[in-house]
Amino acid sequence: MTIEVNPMSDWLDLLRKLCATPGVSGFEDKVATLVSAELRKEVDSVQKDQMGNIFGTRRGLSKNGPTIMVTAHMDEVGLIVKHIEETGFLRVQKLGGVPEVVLQGQRVVVCGRRESLPGLVGQKPAHIMSETERKTIGSIDDLYVDIGAANRKEAEEFGVEIGTPITFDREFCRIGKEFVTSKAIDNRVGVTAMLQVAKQLAQKDLESTICYVGTVQEEVGLRGARVATERVRPDVALVLDGLHAGGTPDVADRVLPMRLGRGPAVTIAGSSQLHGFIANRRLRECIAQVAGTEGIPLQHNVGIASGVSDSGAVHLAGKGVATSDILVVRRYSHSPIEMVSLSDIENAIRLAVKVIPHLDSTFIKSLEE
Ligand SMILES: [Zn+2]
Repeated sequence: MTIEVNPMSDWLDLLRKLCATPGVSGFEDKVATLVSAELRKEVDSVQKDQMGNIFGTRRGLSKNGPTIMVTAHMDEVGLIVKHIEETGFLRVQKLGGVPEVVLQGQRVVVCGRRESLPGLVGQKPAHIMSETERKTIGSIDDLYVDIGAANRKEAEEFGVEIGTPITFDREFCRIGKEFVTSKAIDNRVGVTAMLQVAKQLAQKDLESTICYVGTVQEEVGLRGARVATERVRPDVALVLDGLHAGGTPDVADRVLPMRLGRGPAVTIAGSSQLHGFIANRRLRECIAQVAGTEGIPLQHNVGIASGVSDSGAVHLAGKGVATSDILVVRRYSHSPIEMVSLSDIENAIRLAVKVIPHLDSTFIKSLEE
């Protein structure tokens, strides 16, 4: 099969690199280092807070002009070592919403003190499983990770300790004509988009100051975004993240109507639970209008089952922040084989780049009218 060369190859390598870099919630350092290095080329200053959030500020022309915050969470779901057995096997806890069903039989990367080690989520031989065992999934407490250590001492010599983070082990690859699959697509796609927006707007003279924020600990409750927004105190915010899509044989349209390849999605009203979010209507309409003018396809998200994003924290900071998300939809969410469309990513970048110049003082004033 001939794979067409995509015009977005300038960010494809960056996405590949970001997906390969381990960064479970609370252990985002390596991703943060990459994000800082990339931002430094495009903005006036880069800072980091105590939690690990990264802030890249591109000053606007007007000293007292508005501040726009553009965020993408840097963390990925994964595991953390909670106990090392005498026999050298690791017991783990989840960081973020990893379903047990995707864990058994997986290869993982155990991020040891000195180096990354291959690990296996083991299981008893299929030959001796009972009929019930073949069909049921054990709880996280029943699972164990095998790093080939003879005993606890050897595991410790390998650089593993209580608190060692673990990620899925799955290589980034292209699939079909316009898709890619990898672990950590959530949310290295958003991070890539944010860095690309910073790059494309670097040469533009804008009235507003833009603060690009790589947030930490989204997958464990939007924690980084909460403090990051208090620090930036933006007038308006765009959150770049992903959203689970349907279009597979096991998901009905009435449950998940989003499809890959149909453009980025914006939330109108998300989850009604804690951390849910209803987008600022003016901002969302501005985004839809720009998408229409630019010929960018757009999907609309209403209450797609039980998903939240940094928007849930960002819009509630300070006196309230006009917030919208721009989401790239993905299949197989929170598994090692997350899959997205390259054209959706490109369109999400284009959309953000075209929307941001509209977010000036006139627009901010209109928000309170
Ligand atoms: Zn996410």
